[in-house]
Amino acid sequence: VLIWSFIWAFIFALFFAYYVSRQSMKPILRAWQQQQDFVNNAAHELRTPMSVIQGKLETMLTKPTATIREESEAVILSLSEVRRLNSLTNNMLTLAKSGSNMTKIEKEKTDIKAFMDKVLSPYVEMGSLSDKKVSLDVDVNQEVGIDRKRIHQLLVLLMDNALKYSDDGDAIRVSAKIEKRRLVIAVADTGRGISASAKKHIFDRFYREDKTGNRKTGGTGLGLSIAEWIVRAHNGKIVVMDNKPKGTIFKVILPL
Ligand code: ADP
Repeated sequence: VLIWSFIWAFIFALFFAYYVSRQSMKPILRAWQQQQDFVNNAAHELRTPMSVIQGKLETMLTKPTATIREESEAVILSLSEVRRLNSLTNNMLTLAKSGSNMTKIEKEKTDIKAFMDKVLSPYVEMGSLSDKKVSLDVDVNQEVGIDRKRIHQLLVLLMDNALKYSDDGDAIRVSAKIEKRRLVIAVADTGRGISASAKKHIFDRFYREDKTGNRKTGGTGLGLSIAEWIVRAHNGKIVVMDNKPKGTIFKVILPL
């Protein structure tokens, strides 16, 4: 009986040790998998513009009879792909640094009204020159501690998306107010909106709702991941909701 008790205790201990090690390995395995996915997706995203540029350059080399018009078209296309590569690598670097805590958030007391006027005035001006109406409504009369560089980057990401995913005649309204000791910034557009299934994934790295459409709009699928990181680093949160009757609202909530 004693020997059997020992054997059973040993088997139980083995299973227990296996279970505990599996559980404690889970976060490490998940992080490793995320890293693998990031590298795979990054390589895939970089490969496409590089093949386009390579193809265009090879054609220019092997087809010396190309007209000036054909050549300039190839240069324009290559240039737009180079710009895409540039923005992809910049976004990847930002995300890589965010993951390794290399980028510190440096908060400074900021006059939110003056700050937002400055960051968003190019968009308001651009709106008045185009068929998209951009308006700003800031009702914050106190200073708030924010990392200006990062919140600037966040507003640009949200504004660029609002413009990219809306059409002529649509409106984009940015508002800011203090609510329950929190700074609430909302970017609301009347654009194409986001489906319920896509809403679950839009903050994932490299996720794009419509891959083919987004190549035209020049998206990388990294913007909202960066936006989410910036907000989290401020201990805040970012939520997405439908605008009525159509469009999307991104709400950023930052504790004071
Ligand atoms: P991208 O570079 O493709 O814009 P993001 O991470 O910024 O990548 O956004 C992820 C996806 O979320 C976009 O591809 C788009 O499908 C969707 N999205 C983001 N903002 C909006 C918006 N204002 N209106 C509609 N769809 C949006």
